[in-house]
Amino acid sequence: MNDAMPLMDFIQQLPKTETHVHIEGALPLELLQRVRPEFHRPPASWMHDFKYRDFAHFEQELLDMACSWYRTPESYHEAAKLIFAGYVAQNVKYVETSFASGMIEFGGLDGREVLAAIHEAAPAGLEVRVFLGIHHNGAGGKMRPILEEALGWSGLAGIDLHGPEDMTLEPWSAEYWAEARRRGKYTKAHAGEFMGADFVLRVLDELRPHRIEHGVRSVENPAVVSELRRRGVALDVCPTSNHKLMPGVRLPEHPIRQLFDAGVTVTVSTDDPICFGSTVADEYAALAKWQGFTRAELAQVARNGFAVSLLPEAQKQAWMVEIDRLAGGKA
Ligand SMILES: [Zn+2]
Repeated sequence: MNDAMPLMDFIQQLPKTETHVHIEGALPLELLQRVRPEFHRPPASWMHDFKYRDFAHFEQELLDMACSWYRTPESYHEAAKLIFAGYVAQNVKYVETSFASGMIEFGGLDGREVLAAIHEAAPAGLEVRVFLGIHHNGAGGKMRPILEEALGWSGLAGIDLHGPEDMTLEPWSAEYWAEARRRGKYTKAHAGEFMGADFVLRVLDELRPHRIEHGVRSVENPAVVSELRRRGVALDVCPTSNHKLMPGVRLPEHPIRQLFDAGVTVTVSTDDPICFGSTVADEYAALAKWQGFTRAELAQVARNGFAVSLLPEAQKQAWMVEIDRLAGGKA
């Protein structure tokens, strides 16, 4: 283990992934400042001790910032170029980002154009996979045929259940998630951030996602923790996001340590950096600082990111070898 190297250098040199980031929530501050000069200072929510009152408070601030910029496919392209350059600078090799189907439903955008605009921004050396994020009630009105069509978009890696978790899980979703899998799409779902372990289990049973976004409240029920392990369903955890948004959770007591120690595959990501002010490297540093993760354990988290990625097996193995070279054997 390379202990002589300063921690932030070690984190920088680790090949990393970002598997849970909403592109609207990743709006670069410099673009927000271009259209909203009052943000010459970062949002108050970037302060370490900030806590959102509730999800509605967070969503209102996110929409206020994101909708100031994201209005056209070109605006997605320009933002994605800057976001992806930030990943390259942090030695992030693989990213899964989602765009909100609400931008099609309410913003009048063409999903295929947004998808193409994001993909065209991907630089050499960064693998990008794009998902469509759909709210619990996102299949109403004009959206149902668009969602059906989206499963045929070749540039769409998969789908993700977004939005307030306490909204009804409508009957169309189980059917749609099953159809997505049949059509070769990767499926995810946000669960276990606001709703408890029972909801995680319900989502696992009804939607059968390949992976859960957040999922941290699974820790409240050991049976759900062992179910995640048994089914091999990983959690894309966002510690700083949870620290600032999730009721009752702060970094020092974050359940990620318990989940990691219980053998659940966990990764770390930033979720919505324009709201939370963190980078991928910051998330690794937070695990070390607040949760006592050793370098070997940080390396295991990085390995997990590649293990759950949609990269070809040979490419996954190449990054694992690179992590082993930097960090030594498994944690
Ligand atoms: Zn999220």
